[in-house]
Amino acid sequence: MRQVAILGATGSIGQSTLDVIARHPDQFAVFAMTANRNHQKMQQLCRQFEPRYVVLSDPDSAERLSAVITDLATEVLVGESGLMRVAAASEVDTVVAAIVGAAGLIPTLAAIRARKRVLLANKESLVMAGALFMDEVRRHQAELLPVDSEHNAIFQCLPPGRIGQPALHSGVHKIILTGSGGPFRDLAIEQLDSVTPEQACAHPNWDMGPKISVDSATMMNKGLEMIEACWLFAVEHSDIDILLHRQSIVHSMVSYLDGSVIAQLGNPDMRTPIANALSWPQRIDSGVEPLNLLQVSQLDFTLADEARYPCIALAREAWHRGGTCMTVLNAANEVAVDQFLQRNISFMEIPRIITKVLEQSSTGPADNLDIVLQADAAARELALELVASGDR
Ligand code: NAD
Ligand code: MG
Repeated sequence: MRQVAILGATGSIGQSTLDVIARHPDQFAVFAMTANRNHQKMQQLCRQFEPRYVVLSDPDSAERLSAVITDLATEVLVGESGLMRVAAASEVDTVVAAIVGAAGLIPTLAAIRARKRVLLANKESLVMAGALFMDEVRRHQAELLPVDSEHNAIFQCLPPGRIGQPALHSGVHKIILTGSGGPFRDLAIEQLDSVTPEQACAHPNWDMGPKISVDSATMMNKGLEMIEACWLFAVEHSDIDILLHRQSIVHSMVSYLDGSVIAQLGNPDMRTPIANALSWPQRIDSGVEPLNLLQVSQLDFTLADEARYPCIALAREAWHRGGTCMTVLNAANEVAVDQFLQRNISFMEIPRIITKVLEQSSTGPADNLDIVLQADAAARELALELVASGDR
């Protein structure tokens, strides 16, 4: 029986993970679940899964939850110390890192240092602190498994056990990262500035949390994923091609020197990569419908237009410059997306703010956590100043 801690249990990935776990009560038990402040949802999850611990980051929400689950044996913990405690608890074998954004970094590192099997959905933690994140994985020999659908696909297409090892040593010619292009892929570029948060969050193929939905619409998601792939598979950004694939059936591919291209296909449902990583190297039922290729009938691939998606070039530039540039890219993007969701800035101001923050930030090597956290805080402050001053 594997004991699982789910960081970000109330979110989209958290819910998909719990759906897979509930199908296999003989194999997986929920030891801990965490969320930011959604105590109502957490109460419902506590009654269904009866975990040993839950963590709410917000103290008021934690107090409210404690008051209504006195009949359960579940203990309620608070804040970052609670997150770190459950991520590193000796009873836990598997930690699902599904908090959104930079808030996931410290608890994910705690799980890595405690040598857990870490199922990584929280790509922002790897983008903001890639070098030290991968160093910690190697040093502590944690078992890192990608849940992001593209990276899980690449993981499945590579020879076994290749996380952190240079993929090019395995006869790989290129990694081909696919992306749907998001909800605005067919909209005239002039109309992009007037799109609303609701339109941005209505993804054609995937049902996801608000932040990654906006990232998919700007394709910063593909930029973050390009950086994520560089770290996970130890390749350069020039070893990765990005292709638009509107059906979201081919989740990514690996092209080998002998001319073989291996792809992973499936219906667009995150329960597939989650089940793959939960049970690896075995396979379990995820609840996802088998793929019907006759129904799909056609698979299209085109190049991503970088005028429509300037965020891809920004991510390539940040990887190329290295160090805290990626921390700055991630932090500026998180602030800009949040400001767009709050209707304080327009959609195309997202890349403009990130560009300015990258230009105006002093960056350097990202060799320790303090430097990363300082770069993250400074970039957030600068992005908010740009929004407040109207200089964007
Ligand atoms: P979501 O917004 O649906 O859920 C986020 C979860 O994190 C919630 O449980 C929330 O309570 C928690 N959280 C948010 N802020 C927090 C904070 N400051 N402190 C502690 N907890 C906090 O997001 P999601 O769509 O499930 O995405 C989660 C992560 O997985 C992101 O990094 C995203 O990029 C990645 N991811 C998501 C998908 C998807 O299909 N949703 C696919 C690939 C990767
Ligand atoms: Mg993805």
